[in-house]
Amino acid sequence: MAGIGTFVAILIGVSILALVGTIWYIIAKIKSFAREGFGTDNLKEILKQQEAQLSEPKSVSGMTSVYLPKLQADFPELNWDEMQETAKQHLREYLENKGLTNIRFHKTALNDYIKKAGTCYAKIQTALQHDDKDGNTTQTRYNVTMSYVQDAEKTGFAKAYAITCPNCGAAVTSLGHKNCEYCGAVIKEVSRRVWELSSIEEV
Ligand SMILES: [Zn+2]
Repeated sequence: MAGIGTFVAILIGVSILALVGTIWYIIAKIKSFAREGFGTDNLKEILKQQEAQLSEPKSVSGMTSVYLPKLQADFPELNWDEMQETAKQHLREYLENKGLTNIRFHKTALNDYIKKAGTCYAKIQTALQHDDKDGNTTQTRYNVTMSYVQDAEKTGFAKAYAITCPNCGAAVTSLGHKNCEYCGAVIKEVSRRVWELSSIEEV
């Protein structure tokens, strides 16, 4: 006779089907989610991607051995280690202003050194990682370009900033001169022998 036993058996059967269906639906959902986010639903592939992103710093294309001797020939007193630190400080400030945290620098290299219109540009490339506000770590790479005004005549710097000798009032045309060309007075304001931040770009 079709009694309680059969009813229970049917109930269990339907429950199992519903459960399997639900699980199957959830898995399909997760997979489509994964494909959207990672371009694959293969868990191994996703983990591999994640790991690679977390652990591998980007390489820097360094031409330090080519450009550093040129830079140091023009600036014999330049301290390359200090210059890298300055560039990284500028970059850190820039990234922190964007709300990024846990900034860790990896390799740094001199990527380029050019002279254009009386100004010298040193492009410093550095690989680094940072976290965003959701705690996601990103490996990336930036160029920090530092500039140095070498020849005020060519850049129009002296005119723009109206630099004159504090002693005799003569116009000071070259920032390379530490003394006034006319009276020989020491010109502190013009001894602006510093590299300044020119630009920051992610590469
Ligand atoms: Zn003077």
